[in-house]
Amino acid sequence: MVIISSMPSRISSGGMSSTINPFGPQWPKATEGAKEARPVGDQVEEALFGKRKPPVLDEDDFPEVTEILALLDKYRKKFAVMVGDQEKDYRLQLADGTLAMIDGHGTIFIGVRFLLKFQKNPSVLIGALAHEVGHRPHRWAEYKTKKDLNREEINELCRFEETRADLFAGRAMAEVNISPEPMIQFLEEIEEGPHPDYFPAKMRADVIREGYNEQKSKVNNRKKMWPELDRATAARLHLGDF
Ligand SMILES: [Zn+2]
Repeated sequence: MVIISSMPSRISSGGMSSTINPFGPQWPKATEGAKEARPVGDQVEEALFGKRKPPVLDEDDFPEVTEILALLDKYRKKFAVMVGDQEKDYRLQLADGTLAMIDGHGTIFIGVRFLLKFQKNPSVLIGALAHEVGHRPHRWAEYKTKKDLNREEINELCRFEETRADLFAGRAMAEVNISPEPMIQFLEEIEEGPHPDYFPAKMRADVIREGYNEQKSKVNNRKKMWPELDRATAARLHLGDF
């Protein structure tokens, strides 16, 4: 497996004593420690969100998805506030050749074929959207620790990130009163996760259901004990800590 942070090995100078290569860049010596460790946040962001972005499409060319995109945009705003960010921290971008993915700037690419396949069953799309928002990519800039992570450490952080995102997806769906089961079924059908080395669909299903059930009981308690508050918060969906 390729270690993404590995440096090119020093090119032999062919017996020349000078370390200056007149025909190319000056490679750092292996012993020089020339490469400074990078912030952990950067490395995880690269692993999670640094994948090649899918080709973007112009919404005007796809009037058949205008309605479903408008619906998802409403959920985008709700989920942004629920997760503790602002609406403007996320935007939807119609794309090709992807289901859904988010980049480090909060742009959520959503595939046109994914939209068309589930526009009559939008809970799958809404669940995917909640998962992407649950990544909160702006948060990664806060991880300033400088330490080069090995592949296993990066995988471990990615698994943690995915679990967070799934947990949020479950909670968010409970708040908007949408069953997570169609999304879970879809994950089981496609099986391979959005990121390599991630948990199998069965484990993801458990995490999503856990988030959903936990939040569902909070929502039910809120309705029972503070019906006025529930009406007020449900209207704005400003739910404080999540
Ligand atoms: Zn993810």
